[in-house]
Amino acid sequence: MKRFSHFDASSIEEAISLLGKYENSSYVIAGGSDLMGGLKDNLWMEYPEAIINIKTIPGLNNLTVKEDGLHIGALVTLTELSESDAVKQTWPGLAEAARRTASPLLRNMGTIAGNICQENRCWYYRYPDKIGGRIDCIRKGGKRCLAIPGDHRFHSIFGAVKKCIAVNPSDTAPALVALNAVVKTTKREIPIDEFFTGENGCGSTILDHNEIVTEIIVPTPSVGESSAFVKIAYRKSIDFALVNCAASITIIDGKITQARICLNGVHNVPRRCSDAEALLIGKKLTEETAAEAAATAVADAKPLFQNMYKVQLAKTSVLDTLLECVR
Ligand SMILES: Cc1cc2nc3c(=O)[nH]c(=O)nc-3n(C[C@H](O)[C@H](O)[C@H](O)COP(=O)(O)OP(=O)(O)OC[C@H]3O[C@@H](n4cnc5c(N)ncnc54)[C@H](O)[C@@H]3O)c2cc1C
Ligand code: SF4
Repeated sequence: MKRFSHFDASSIEEAISLLGKYENSSYVIAGGSDLMGGLKDNLWMEYPEAIINIKTIPGLNNLTVKEDGLHIGALVTLTELSESDAVKQTWPGLAEAARRTASPLLRNMGTIAGNICQENRCWYYRYPDKIGGRIDCIRKGGKRCLAIPGDHRFHSIFGAVKKCIAVNPSDTAPALVALNAVVKTTKREIPIDEFFTGENGCGSTILDHNEIVTEIIVPTPSVGESSAFVKIAYRKSIDFALVNCAASITIIDGKITQARICLNGVHNVPRRCSDAEALLIGKKLTEETAAEAAATAVADAKPLFQNMYKVQLAKTSVLDTLLECVR
């Protein structure tokens, strides 16, 4: 690692002021489980001058159920989320997504905001520059993507954004999308559907440099609404998802009246399956309708030579997630 200044911010205002002072050369750190890897491997085009610790800011770690829904402070850990009885009971898709993230140690450190703001895991992008020299791909300001002609077995099956086929690796992101969450920041409230982007170079979100997530609000489910999350990975713990999926379904009088389905690990951003959702409305949730929706969700996939298998994984995970909603 190289040298940098480290600040323990005592308030949001102090953290924002420090981000302003070290404009474009600073990062906030929460659990550090993603950021520290980036610092060790010298990921970015310019090494940050300052790291601003936000764990020292009081009031960002509350997990509260209010009338309008679940309020998750930015510093709530994945362990807290996955072990909360209220979350398990009312937002099971989110509790399961947090439970399936990484390992116990990482869930103890990792925060919800860090989980949705983490950077991609493309192995060319993450390649440590101390081994064999730096790989500057498009995301790092270079001229070409190495994964497209190289090894892309874990990459996007829905095409590229800005010629990059890295996927969003977050487990909680699809659950928050399926549950229609809102991300509150120091500047605005962002509907989760608008939060992620592949357009922003290294960043995976639309956040400005001097903008911090303070809270995530997940609405209270309506009558008849249920949610689920399914992850497919090589190993049960620690591995990032090959594909994951979350869904929330509302069933009234035996018929589906609302559906939100989100795949992740398949594209630069978590991917809403809008056609599959539309197909379900007004129908009963059976193995057949779920299979039809699953086939629709991957109908416009454009896999590459080495990742065709992910299309079948995505299809299976949509099917399993929908059926899990009514189990
Ligand atoms: C071995 C290993 C396995 C992993 N497996 C998984 C997995 O299976 N699934 C998965 O989803 N993730 C996985 N991760 C990634 C990571 O550990 C988690 O996503 C974790 O939740 C990140 O949270 P953090 O608080 O540690 O983030 P940090 O490392 O502190 O921050 C991550 C990024 O988010 C930014 N950030 C943090 N908080 C805020 C905020 N409040 N506002 C704005 N920006 C913020 C930071 O600047 C940084 O860019 C894994 C990581 C490792 C090292
Ligand atoms: S997929 Fe994206 S991050 Fe990976 S090498 Fe290509 S441009 Fe870089």
